Amino acid sequence: MAMLVAAAGRLGGPRRPEPIWPRHSGSANTIMPIPPRNKISRGFVLCILALMLASASAQTVEISVFGSLKPQALTLRAAPGSVILVNGTPLKDAASIQVRLGQNRTVHVAARNGVQAEFVLTVPAKITRRFRGLLEIRPAGDRLLALVRMDLETAVAAVTAAESGPGAPRQELKAQAVLARSFFIAAGRRHQSFDFCDTTHCQFFRAPPPEGSPAAQAVAETRGLVLKYQGHVFPPLYSSNCGGRTRLPGDIGLRVEIYPYFAVDCARRGQRMGHGVGLCQTGATAMARAGTNFRAILHHYYPGTLVQQYR
Ligand SMILES: [Zn+2]
Ligand SMILES: [Zn+2]
Repeated sequence: MAMLVAAAGRLGGPRRPEPIWPRHSGSANTIMPIPPRNKISRGFVLCILALMLASASAQTVEISVFGSLKPQALTLRAAPGSVILVNGTPLKDAASIQVRLGQNRTVHVAARNGVQAEFVLTVPAKITRRFRGLLEIRPAGDRLLALVRMDLETAVAAVTAAESGPGAPRQELKAQAVLARSFFIAAGRRHQSFDFCDTTHCQFFRAPPPEGSPAAQAVAETRGLVLKYQGHVFPPLYSSNCGGRTRLPGDIGLRVEIYPYFAVDCARRGQRMGHGVGLCQTGATAMARAGTNFRAILHHYYPGTLVQQYR
């Protein structure tokens, strides 16, 4: 059962979509010009090459976390049993540091091997959550921005877990994983200062699920699979409950690219929750319980699509 209504505004072209729905920043994306360089050092070039190689082997996703809480302070610690590097200095699990808005500093967190750090982030008196990835904390106007860059599959697992309740059937989890992955790959940069937020404006995101959990297994079993229409991955819309028949983007005043959507009958009726376009999570649960596999669930809600490897 879906925990939150998946909001509208999940649309766009494969690269840099038009802002169809209001963004949190309230303005369209801007492309910063790259200042000319008279002389590019060899080290700089090698560094860029290394980054390109790293991104080619493992696609990453950048997510702003806790942004809706407008944090003025954040407490950071390493996950139990691990050591993280905070601006290059080791921080062990018992110790913590606090970053406050007034300090006007940027904090970078990495693991000692330079890959994915395990850390715990707290907005004092509000929320504590464990993350895996590279973290950057920096001031942005009246708040701190906390940006976590993580492997695509880690992000997909966190959305799949957040979007499904306990006891969700395996085939529903797998369908959800394919949708979350397709969205991250195809939706493009959705905010001015970062790619994605952690609310249903983009995709509802919480902590990555533990290894071996049903959500983590569903993600592993669908690794790399996305939804394609006429050969292109698209950022699929989905919602909590369509009310009995799914709707068209035009019904809710949205213009979509790539995939045209179709109104289809749903396995469940009831009170509509959410925009009702694309996969209905309530109906998908019912289909999965009745023995339908994730590919058939996806083909039902997105006629004419194929479930294929991204590359
Ligand atoms: Zn967003
Ligand atoms: Zn439905």
